[in-house]
Amino acid sequence: MSGSLLYLSGVGKSFDGFRAIDNLSLVVFPGELRAVIGPNGAGKTTMMDIITGKTRPDEGEVFWKESVDLTRADEVETARLGIGRKFQKPSVIESLTVAENLELALKGPRGVAARLFGRRGETEAREIARLLALVRLEEARDAPAGSLSHGQKQWLEIGMLLAQDPELLLVDEPAAGMTDAETMRTAELLREIAGRHAVVVVEHDMEFVRALGCKVTVLHQGRVLAEGSLEHVSANPEVIEVYLGR
Ligand code: ADP
Repeated sequence: MSGSLLYLSGVGKSFDGFRAIDNLSLVVFPGELRAVIGPNGAGKTTMMDIITGKTRPDEGEVFWKESVDLTRADEVETARLGIGRKFQKPSVIESLTVAENLELALKGPRGVAARLFGRRGETEAREIARLLALVRLEEARDAPAGSLSHGQKQWLEIGMLLAQDPELLLVDEPAAGMTDAETMRTAELLREIAGRHAVVVVEHDMEFVRALGCKVTVLHQGRVLAEGSLEHVSANPEVIEVYLGR
């Protein structure tokens, strides 16, 4: 689709004859913020596995920027193309400080250290300061990552992913295990980073999805059941039956 960052059409994937993904279509535009919701087993994880090249679909098209066929890419290639993935469990290095974790992340293949020549130290320091402010961890700069709260660790990991300047960030249930205040702060953070990066968030927490205030895609049995604003999809009788009416 014209101008799309990510384009999935007619995608299918079976595991031992079970249709985990069934004729799935999804279009994400540059800078867009999108929530993907759906009951357990709806295919959300498999969808993200297909986008990142972890899983190969049996059929259908998956295109990056209308030209790169992601069905032929592996996880290393999709990361290099600019697809970042945040898993549920944070994977920060607990013995290093917050700033050191970010510094390490900046040394990745798409980090600022690889992108810019000369005055590298200065540029890196500026980028670390920008990321610390963005994820609201300025005060924890020199604290070991292991001493952070669960929510702060999630934000640090988001900062580490942003250090790679992804064009698309996939985020898996960021609000799981967070306090209400952390949940709202996370929604605010994702809203802030969208625009510069497209962000696709898989989430169960409806209050969180409401706070994101973005277009919602409802998955069920591996396909898109409804799409639109949260108000729009919440009014869909099929969505109410399979998901919201529980
Ligand atoms: P969600 O993330 O929405 O909970 P998943 O994508 O994890 O859904 O799973 C969709 C369906 O596919 C589930 O029924 C799950 O059991 C099945 N599935 C996912 N991965 C595999 C696999 N590697 N082998 C067998 N079945 C799988």
